[in-house]
Amino acid sequence: MLTTMNLSKLKVVPAALGYVALSTALAAFAFGFSGHMVPSGNIWLEWSIKTPLMCFFSFFILDAFRAHFRALAAQSSQLHNFELQKTRCWCCSVNHVHPATSQPLPCDRSILTRCLTAWFGSEQAFNDAIRSSVATALEQQLGYDAFPYTWVLLSTSPYLWSLMDDLASLVGSNGLREDAVRLLVRYPTYWLFTFPTVFTWGMILARFFRAKGRNCRAEFLRNVLVTAMTAPSILLFVFWEIWTRIAFERLVGSLIFLTSAVVGFLISRFFYHWHHGKGILQPNGSRS
Ligand SMILES: [Zn+2]
Repeated sequence: MLTTMNLSKLKVVPAALGYVALSTALAAFAFGFSGHMVPSGNIWLEWSIKTPLMCFFSFFILDAFRAHFRALAAQSSQLHNFELQKTRCWCCSVNHVHPATSQPLPCDRSILTRCLTAWFGSEQAFNDAIRSSVATALEQQLGYDAFPYTWVLLSTSPYLWSLMDDLASLVGSNGLREDAVRLLVRYPTYWLFTFPTVFTWGMILARFFRAKGRNCRAEFLRNVLVTAMTAPSILLFVFWEIWTRIAFERLVGSLIFLTSAVVGFLISRFFYHWHHGKGILQPNGSRS
């Protein structure tokens, strides 16, 4: 018989993660691809084009994150109040008569209830297992991060394709020796630390403003607001990128950029976890 102890190794992966990951991957790919259209000879021109592009693609990622936080809150609430009898079955909704053929239908609910009673001992035991083990697994596995760091790295990895393209275009030329340090230090730094830092601030804001707007315009304006509030972290990154490139020699500037990116990342993650605590799935303001 299954018990809550047997469910301790339960792995919960909400489908909503896929939507955020796909939106992020598409945005990362589009940003990396559009970056190739930007002339790279003049650093000011390069980043004055790339910055609005980053904000533009962030808009779609933040929209996905707001939906993700809404879905997590709804799932958590549903799991904590789960009752097998309150679940909906199509067979019951049509009174166990097929609407097209008028043939009688077996009741899925009664079949499932009998199976679950055999597995868990009783219907109540199954309800208790869902409310405790599944809800706890969801909160422990996703509640702490909502969108784990490894998922951030995987979903932004399409951006690295643009690094490979840059490197390939420099192979065999003097440009590779000159730019190799900058590319090999800065691009992985963007991926490992800078983007996740911007993500983290965006996630804090997306969660805070996750409530759905009353209509399309309100929803659009909420996304604009969250993007505008995330923009300072993008501007700070761009300023730091430019300053460490023009004020220092290549290697020194790149190492300063790397170090500060790691520090900025750790601060943002600390703030994120401090701000959300373990109550990330709870409504705003009820942090325990
Ligand atoms: Zn039924």
